[in-house]
Amino acid sequence: MNRVTFQTEMCKGCGLCVSACPKKILRISTKVINGKGHHPAEVANPEACIACGFCATMCPDCVITVEKE
Ligand code: SF4
Ligand code: SF4
Repeated sequence: MNRVTFQTEMCKGCGLCVSACPKKILRISTKVINGKGHHPAEVANPEACIACGFCATMCPDCVITVEKE
């Protein structure tokens, strides 16, 4: 399976990755708050990831790693 992972503690919750995802499977968490006080991005439906890498390219803080199966 393709895999998208986040270094959650580095995320500032800007939402750029959410906008970039063509599959619309990313979201800003409403439950989690990281050490910087931000709601971080998370993947809502990992099975649907096509490993395009758009989210990782868009992230200004290099929070996201995409692995293609
Ligand atoms: S790799 Fe592509 S499909 Fe997967 S979460 Fe990132 S933008 Fe969405
Ligand atoms: S683009 Fe990067 S910093 Fe912004 S919400 Fe997504 S993972 Fe977090």
